[in-house]
Amino acid sequence: MSDSPATNVVIAVDGPAASGKSSVSRRVANRLGYAFVSTGLMYRAFTWVVCEAGIDPESDPEGVVAVLEKTDIQPDRRGNEIFLRVNGEDPGDALTSDRINSRVSIVAKIPDVRQALVKQQRASAHASDIVMEGRDIGSVVFPDTPYKFYLDASEEVRAQRRAAQGLGDEIAERDRMDANRKVSPLKVAEGATVIDTSDLSLDEVVETLLSHLAKQGLIPNA
Ligand code: C5P
Repeated sequence: MSDSPATNVVIAVDGPAASGKSSVSRRVANRLGYAFVSTGLMYRAFTWVVCEAGIDPESDPEGVVAVLEKTDIQPDRRGNEIFLRVNGEDPGDALTSDRINSRVSIVAKIPDVRQALVKQQRASAHASDIVMEGRDIGSVVFPDTPYKFYLDASEEVRAQRRAAQGLGDEIAERDRMDANRKVSPLKVAEGATVIDTSDLSLDEVVETLLSHLAKQGLIPNA
């Protein structure tokens, strides 16, 4: 697969942890018949490989890169969603464990890791129109797409959402690392529409996004 720019439509959705990106992006993709790609899951899948190899990403980033070179990462399309198979395996529920939550941002700041996964992410758009969510989709992965959104919510609301999912995720710490890393930090991409989801229901956020896409002429008015 090549690393050339997408020819299909790409809707980029970025934002901090628990801002609603995945749920909103999945619904928008279903409504439009596009594929949905969670790039967070990709970083999580590779972090899982690193953990299984017994590498501590904090003290041994070179070890992480050595693992990367030996890791076979393949797209795995299931229905309308694109996942990754790492070394032929799907890590499943292990991807949202505390072990992964506490290490994924450390792995994700390593430039070689980002380069390899961004290549996979760009390749996803060769097969179909996509809604892709992450931290750097509008700023780095597909900076030329005219369809960019940044979902935000107060830290309190985001922590409540994670707790409601039964996940003990230190989102403030992850956000701090994601926003402060040197390569592709979390930020509002140029031209992105910012939506504060703190006081909106999932349906309301989806409708806001779709009405924006209609204004942009991508889809007919509802
Ligand atoms: O979206 P999710 O919370 O599953 O992402 C997990 C982690 O993966 C983020 O905290 C971040 O460190 C990393 N990530 C990234 N760039 C992306 C998507 C996720 O660095 N495009």
